[in-house]
Amino acid sequence: MIDPRHYRMRVDTNKCTGCRHCEMACSMVHNQDKVNYHRARIRVIALEDRFLPLIAGPYVSETEECASKKLVQIGDKVYDQCILCRASCPNKSIFKEPDSGIPLKCDFCAFREEGPACVQVCTSGALEIIKIEEEVEEI
Ligand code: SF4
Ligand code: SF4
Repeated sequence: MIDPRHYRMRVDTNKCTGCRHCEMACSMVHNQDKVNYHRARIRVIALEDRFLPLIAGPYVSETEECASKKLVQIGDKVYDQCILCRASCPNKSIFKEPDSGIPLKCDFCAFREEGPACVQVCTSGALEIIKIEEEVEEI
């Protein structure tokens, strides 16, 4: 069982194929075995030349609008930072619980004996759980 205070997810975008199996698995383990991508705590963003699996991080705020909206340039393309930011935030639809609107946050599947479901189904090795020495509060 993963204690989120001692682990981090390492994401290798060079290995990600964009299959979205991680999204499916995450939604199933948090949604009574039913697939609903809107309930996934991981979302795969298609960039110009690669896929970026983005894991829902700590809350910015449950009620207030984010004050740090920037544009991020990667190569020739400009992305709204909101898309690339992993914070859970009431203004970002990708990490919002569809019924309640509550921001979703990755819990590292701490309730599963088998560990994170997304890592388990990612056969390309793009996702890896890394143990860290220092105890940290947020994931
Ligand atoms: S399961 Fe792995 S390869 Fe597939 S989209 Fe997710 S991170 Fe990428
Ligand atoms: S570790 Fe668990 S909660 Fe976090 S993104 Fe992966 S499947 Fe979802």
